Amino acid sequence: MKTPVGRFAPSPSGRMHLGNIYTALLSWLSVKSRGGSWILRIEDLDPQRSKIEYARLIEDDLHWLGLEWDEGGLDGVGPNGPYVQSRRHHLYEEALERLKASGLCYPCSCTRADILATQAPHESDGRVVYKGTCRPPVMPSPYMDRPGAAVRLMVPDEDISFIDRIKGPQTVNLARHCGDFIVRRGDGAWSYQLAVVVDDALMGVTEVMRGDDLLLSAAQQIYLYRLLGFDSPEFAHVPLVCNEQGIRLSKRDRSLSMEYLREHHTPEEVLGIAAHRASLIPSPFPISLSALLQLKV
Ligand code: GLU
Repeated sequence: MKTPVGRFAPSPSGRMHLGNIYTALLSWLSVKSRGGSWILRIEDLDPQRSKIEYARLIEDDLHWLGLEWDEGGLDGVGPNGPYVQSRRHHLYEEALERLKASGLCYPCSCTRADILATQAPHESDGRVVYKGTCRPPVMPSPYMDRPGAAVRLMVPDEDISFIDRIKGPQTVNLARHCGDFIVRRGDGAWSYQLAVVVDDALMGVTEVMRGDDLLLSAAQQIYLYRLLGFDSPEFAHVPLVCNEQGIRLSKRDRSLSMEYLREHHTPEEVLGIAAHRASLIPSPFPISLSALLQLKV
């Protein structure tokens, strides 16, 4: 059996909160309890929201908790670096060229308003399904460059099925779920979907554990793994941590931010709170990482 390789891939757009710690802890425990290794990757593709100071704070908070990574981080220790997405453009470029060569990509100049104008009324959950406005009439087709246009990838009208370790069997039809999706934006920014697949594949990640808001993205990613000739990792999507109102934690929930938690608690207390949220322990008592490892999650 392959040694498990997990990863934590935060976006440095703010200080971490209990929800981030919860995901990091579960992912760390999952691989460490089986002798595996854990990667820290900084997902800073959004230049407007990402700040190096937040990446430093993420590292500092993980050190404070004792959640040490074997590879990665800002200084890029490990064989598969760099581990900061803004330094990995050449790898995404290479993958994009392969996708273009498959004949399934096309340039798209639709604005968000154009796309919303073609939405059916039932897509009221906020999802935007692209209806193929710019898709060439015959696909596959050679890629025609159009400066300033986004690059879209055609999706098949077929079910993609996978088994999530936590959520169980999933089936997603990409044509109905999102339609042809963007792999590179018109302004040159890489899509999360493309970057995460290239990174997880090239870093040898065998299990992707993250928040369940990304559950259905796994289908887009499995499709990309297939087109790029990579093996898909195992997926495990954990429930998001909510505040007392049952709403997903955000930067506004100050009492659960790492800043507040560090001022008022010890690392063992914070680990206990996160472990209790994950139902690993019956009440939020202080607990060490080594004691949590004994629980064999
Ligand atoms: N960077 C994403 C976030 O911070 C996580 C992406 C992933 O784990 O695949 O929400």
